[in-house]
Amino acid sequence: MDRVLVAEDSPEISKLMELTLRMEGYEIMQAFDGIQALALANAHRPDLILLDVMMPGLTGFEVARQLKANPETADIPLIFVTAKHEVDALVEGLELAVDYISKPFAVPELAARVRAAMRMRKLQEDLKASNEQLSKLAVTDALTGLSNRRGFKEQFDDELWRARRFGHAIGFALFDLDRFKAVNDTWGHPQGDVVLQKFGEVLLKSSRRVDKVARFGGEEFAVLLPATDESGVSVVCEKVRSATEDLVIPISSSSTGEIIRLTVSGGAVILPHIEESGVEMAHLATGLFELADRCLYQAKTGGRNRIITRTCTDVEAAQIGAGLPVAPAPSGAGEDGELA
Ligand code: GH3
Ligand code: MG
Ligand code: MG
Ligand code: MG
Repeated sequence: MDRVLVAEDSPEISKLMELTLRMEGYEIMQAFDGIQALALANAHRPDLILLDVMMPGLTGFEVARQLKANPETADIPLIFVTAKHEVDALVEGLELAVDYISKPFAVPELAARVRAAMRMRKLQEDLKASNEQLSKLAVTDALTGLSNRRGFKEQFDDELWRARRFGHAIGFALFDLDRFKAVNDTWGHPQGDVVLQKFGEVLLKSSRRVDKVARFGGEEFAVLLPATDESGVSVVCEKVRSATEDLVIPISSSSTGEIIRLTVSGGAVILPHIEESGVEMAHLATGLFELADRCLYQAKTGGRNRIITRTCTDVEAAQIGAGLPVAPAPSGAGEDGELA
């Protein structure tokens, strides 16, 4: 049941409002001065407040301003109730309220204005809920529930700034299932989708809560590892690789107990340090992606079911991200390391 707070110092008018709105099916609370109105609003969060302008304690305007200043009560719609000759003063407070009623009022008018305000409030709430839902969908991969490429990009940029600010290392790994096309070709696309979901679960299980896991589309996935050094990144990648190898996925349509076995390849890059000044932050994520992708390519051509990792500097990643040629690293530095 929707709840209306009636804040009105005249007992007769308050009673009339109470009876009218009860008949309309609302639950009513009553306050007879501004301080009581504020206390009831804060304690009970009514769905609507009828707010008399002239009240002892605090005026209706003062109550309204305090309600709007508090995020917990700012969204409660207000209808000012005012005497005919005070309507001029209302201009000051009208941006705080959705409507006003002047006294004396006709009972059907009161009922109609309250109904309209409630309807407006419902529409606004629905709109807010659908907007939240849409924003979430825009950054989520529907099949796995992981972040999609777009959501991941935002997280990546944030984490790079954090790594720079706190002097943390940051790791980025790309994974691509081996010979996945054969799964689809043999068992069908829906069964392929189940495999993608299972692999998403492997990634979540192998990483930490603070790591960011995403599906980039197809059978390509990414994991971002904040505050993780080279050995930490290697441990996570190896966990993913071996857990994928151990995965046994039963064929749902098979009566003879057939199963799918998989392997995955990965490319990972570790950025141990970002200088406080100097590199173009906008290019870092692109450069790290490109470097991880090169490692992934090596893992594929090197025989699959393996992870190739490498360490890079911020300057190198930013230059690659900007599409600039990179000077060859001095011998001994930046060696590729192979796991698995
Ligand atoms: P490689 O080891 O070289 O990665 O071989 P691969 O077969 O995994 O690679 P390729 O890129 O040739 O094939 C990827 C396949 O992923 C092709 C496509 O059928 C499949 N795929 C892409 N998106 C989806 C999807 O959303 N669902 C399913 N079931 N399959 C998908
Ligand atoms: Mg009054
Ligand atoms: Mg593949
Ligand atoms: Mg692929």
